[in-house]
Amino acid sequence: MRKSLTSRSYHEVPDHDRGRGSAYQRAGRVRLGEITAERLDARVLGTSRYAVTIDWQEAGAGLLRIDCDCPRFAEAAVCKHVWAVIVEIDEEGLSDLVPGESSLRLAPSTAFARCRTRMA
Ligand SMILES: [Zn+2]
Repeated sequence: MRKSLTSRSYHEVPDHDRGRGSAYQRAGRVRLGEITAERLDARVLGTSRYAVTIDWQEAGAGLLRIDCDCPRFAEAAVCKHVWAVIVEIDEEGLSDLVPGESSLRLAPSTAFARCRTRMA
């Protein structure tokens, strides 16, 4: 069995986001959507309904691509919704889909980076 996704990525997520994200996950606010060999989409019900993507194509090289359409993510490139989905991935036993064993750096998905560049 592989290392959990939470243990590989918690150091990249501030305490505040982890605390609230974990509470969201426990409250059943995460709905997993499409899951492929490379990524998954999820919805998290917060103040609004947010779309989260976790992409582990580059996880073997220590990089986890993340995305969320909430206002905090647009500023901080991390948020409680992303953490809620990471916890859900572990709880659902899906962390085995993510390659590698090392600590992961979290970075916005390339689609997000393109969007930000266009807006700048
Ligand atoms: Zn978010």
